[in-house]
Amino acid sequence: MNSDMAILQKAREELQQVLVQEVLQALKKNQIDAFYVSNREEALKKVLSMIPAGSSVGYGGSLTLDELKIKEVLKEGHYQFLDRGRSGVSAEEMFRLRRESLLSDVFLCSTNALTRDGKLVNIDGIGNRLAALTFGPKKVIVVAGINKIVDDLEQGVKRIRNQVAPLHARRRGWKVPCANTGTCMDCRSVDRICGTITITEFPREKGRITVILVGESLGI
Ligand code: SF4
Repeated sequence: MNSDMAILQKAREELQQVLVQEVLQALKKNQIDAFYVSNREEALKKVLSMIPAGSSVGYGGSLTLDELKIKEVLKEGHYQFLDRGRSGVSAEEMFRLRRESLLSDVFLCSTNALTRDGKLVNIDGIGNRLAALTFGPKKVIVVAGINKIVDDLEQGVKRIRNQVAPLHARRRGWKVPCANTGTCMDCRSVDRICGTITITEFPREKGRITVILVGESLGI
């Protein structure tokens, strides 16, 4: 790397740290614990350090968690892992595990967007992830790549409906208009993946939710 590029790279990294500090402080002001780690390996270690052995652990569907490969670790570890992703799980079992996860000791998920002023913006088709984020599990750990940061709520919703939803819908083969158009068409499809939208702004129970912000792009 020549010196100009090296200076540019350094400037980028410094400004990213400015943004990270702004978001961490904003989350803490909103009663949400927050930590920064530089990559997915550190994120995995941090999450595992926060889950006591023997805990029941539920999760919300998340590419970010998949990229951390945390489910593989939880399956092998000393946890009661509520694993609805294993092969052969029936629809009834899936439903039961989703409901049980609402009473888990620890619930893992990501967020669809994270505003600069420390709010989590999320959509869900079924709603189990958002229900657990809001109430139920004793502890919620949210892992978010740096790509999830948006300026404000408006940009967060726009990101979700015009970027996250179309990509998720298309990769899953769901029959919703945004899977074809790439933008939200405000549909009334039975497969609609944004049936519920939540803004986590100031949870009453301080520290129930922890955000681990990762200095790399994760998920959608
Ligand atoms: S309302 Fe329909 S078209 Fe719009 S983002 Fe949701 S699923 Fe896609």
